[in-house]
Amino acid sequence: MLNYYQTVNISTAAGYIADTSIFVIYTGGTIGMDYDKEGKHLKPFDFQQIIDKVPELRRFEFELTLLSFDKPIDSSDIKVHQWLNIARVVYDFYNDYDAFVILHGTDTMAYTASALSFLFDNLAKPVILTGAQLPIGVPRTDARENFITALEIAATKRKNGLPMVPEVCIFFDTLLLRGNRARKVQSNNFTAFASENLPPLAVTGIEISYNESLILPHPEERFDIFSKMDENVGLLKIFPGISQKYLEHFLSTPDLRGIVMETYGSGNTPTDDWFIGALKEAVDSGIHILNVSQCNGGAVVPGMYESGRRLQEIGVISGGDITPEAAITKMMFLLGNEPDPQLIREQLGISLRGEMSLR
Ligand code: ASP
Repeated sequence: MLNYYQTVNISTAAGYIADTSIFVIYTGGTIGMDYDKEGKHLKPFDFQQIIDKVPELRRFEFELTLLSFDKPIDSSDIKVHQWLNIARVVYDFYNDYDAFVILHGTDTMAYTASALSFLFDNLAKPVILTGAQLPIGVPRTDARENFITALEIAATKRKNGLPMVPEVCIFFDTLLLRGNRARKVQSNNFTAFASENLPPLAVTGIEISYNESLILPHPEERFDIFSKMDENVGLLKIFPGISQKYLEHFLSTPDLRGIVMETYGSGNTPTDDWFIGALKEAVDSGIHILNVSQCNGGAVVPGMYESGRRLQEIGVISGGDITPEAAITKMMFLLGNEPDPQLIREQLGISLRGEMSLR
């Protein structure tokens, strides 16, 4: 749970004259860890002491407020209710701050970023997630760079005074990626995230160069959040040798409402009658099946091969070039908020928050 009252104002060079304010939410992950006294095990440190670890924060000219999870977590423990809580906190503080930075473990950062992108409606301010491969307390850490640059990106405005990136993004190493396009692709080098199907929204070097034509437009409508997600979903990865027993067991999961099916290449699966038949039965019973590719780059192209054509015929929906992380969170979001099954089907096949390329 998030403790609403544990916010800490960090004293920066801005004093009372800051014209930019950033709200930082610390959820846990390697970024906030340090070695215990014996120097053996990594433990979360009290993030209120962040200024001791990153004294550079004092030099920023903007106001920084920090809110921490009561109990920082390894992001492999994140749950749907915590996504809803984070969305709620952003909503509650939305009018008081110019931007939000979320410090998060890398393991599920792409899921959290995707989930938040769907939960926010008409987001007009930056929400930048970042983390680190090495704890902030170790000398070679990437945490300081990532955190400081994420803050700088969050604070950047266009000439007309509007925020540069009114989107949920992941900043890591040198890349600013759309959150619902990013995947964790490396567990031991600093370039941990990639977005094969959409170029970075910005690349950092001596300067930060933004790819403005890719950034989502600034919405006109009022910001709001959705407060539900349905967890009755499943992820089915196809592999050679998948058995009828396995598939039928999976499909008979009680209350299952939506499946993200990770298929080969441009959306292909086995064509055995028992396989297609079992999927057809599931679709006919009202389960939504979204076809996404196991490849990092490229897209599902329905009907390109015989197997894809058969899936299309039985009502499997093409997810185009969506990532599995965005697909599963989009499914939870639509099932939680859209009562009409026909509209769920339609919205699974189109881009809602820039998560798929327009076709
Ligand atoms: N297991 C950690 C987490 O996701 C890894 C990291 O932060 O990089 O919380």
